[in-house]
Amino acid sequence: MSQAEGGEEAFECCHVVINSREKVSDVYTRLEKLGEGRFGTVYRLQDKASGTIRAGKYFRTRTAKERKAAEAEVELMNLLHHPRLVQCLAAFQGPSELVMVMEYVAGGELFERIVDDEFEHTEPSSAQYVRQILEGLRFMHAQAVVHLDLKPENVVCVSPDSHWLKIADFGLARKLAPDTPVKVLQGTPEFMAPEVVAFEPVSFSTDMWSVGVICYILLSGESPFQGDNDMETMSNITAAQWDFEEETFSEVSQQAKDFISQLLQKDPRRRLTSAGALQHPWLQQPQPSSTKALSKERIKQFLTRRKWQKTGKALQALNRLTLLSQGPERKESEARDEEGGRLSLGSSSPFPVSMCPLSCSPEQHQGSGSLPRRGLSLSQ
Ligand code: ADP
Ligand code: MG
Repeated sequence: MSQAEGGEEAFECCHVVINSREKVSDVYTRLEKLGEGRFGTVYRLQDKASGTIRAGKYFRTRTAKERKAAEAEVELMNLLHHPRLVQCLAAFQGPSELVMVMEYVAGGELFERIVDDEFEHTEPSSAQYVRQILEGLRFMHAQAVVHLDLKPENVVCVSPDSHWLKIADFGLARKLAPDTPVKVLQGTPEFMAPEVVAFEPVSFSTDMWSVGVICYILLSGESPFQGDNDMETMSNITAAQWDFEEETFSEVSQQAKDFISQLLQKDPRRRLTSAGALQHPWLQQPQPSSTKALSKERIKQFLTRRKWQKTGKALQALNRLTLLSQGPERKESEARDEEGGRLSLGSSSPFPVSMCPLSCSPEQHQGSGSLPRRGLSLSQ
């Protein structure tokens, strides 16, 4: 496998202005559902005139807040024209929904592809994937955009028979401004950086931590911080407690381990930057054409566990929606945010009392009485 193999796919991009004159159904035929988004549903679309296939993310925009969030995602994607980033190509605003039309990514999630029997999984092929993720990130970071939700599910393959990847899902991405600290309380616990868990300002280095976690899993099939529940996972992250297990890393080179070690640094200032990581010797040297196959079995187990986690979270959210169906809208949207195994309490909300050993200050506790206490354990 090499990046030149088969050549780079055609890269299509454009500056999107939200169209409120036409309906999405005037231009596209809606086909089957592709996935459930945090803010709505994603469908396969077909352009009525050209027959081209696209993906359409349907956002509910019944409230001003929902509308602003959907517009912000389109606006942000206008800054992200790069072949390693999924592109937004059009957007339609209807009375109660905004539809974001994206390029259709047909190859599915990278990790799902890796476990396929046909697929070669070696250290050089893993380095190729990590290089592509970093190329996308280097571009994003140069635009001052931080992704904040990098995880295996959001690294997708362009087509079933190519090794080209793209970073997807900019739903939590933010543009950072100098001297304006941004703190977030959202993400997927397993991939969250220590500064997110501690509710400290995020930076471009926050994504680099997640690259370290992805790379660790890619090479070993083990998740470095995963505990028995979210609390334990976040406590492992806070302690920055991790190591290379003898058994799972026996086939992995010293250079790869050094690369991961330079990303999984608790102090964000000590992590490699996206540009710096691309210069690391692990990604620099010419990769031998054939090397030992890495274990797919543990990656399969990782995928199975993630699916169970998502199901558990979706059930939790459903339970809460049922319980709160008479309650204020804010609580319902919090429940929805648990779908997909992501935690999100909004940047102004405190952690619930049950999570506080990690980092909450007494001021952050105040007001938490109005939030429903949520069980953080995952059904695994
Ligand atoms: P979420 O915020 O829920 O993670 P995503 O943007 O990741 O939202 O979309 C949800 C799902 O929809 C994805 O997991 C994927 O299955 C499908 N999907 C999203 N965008 C595309 C796309 N451009 N091409 C193909 N499938 C997509
Ligand atoms: Mg996603």
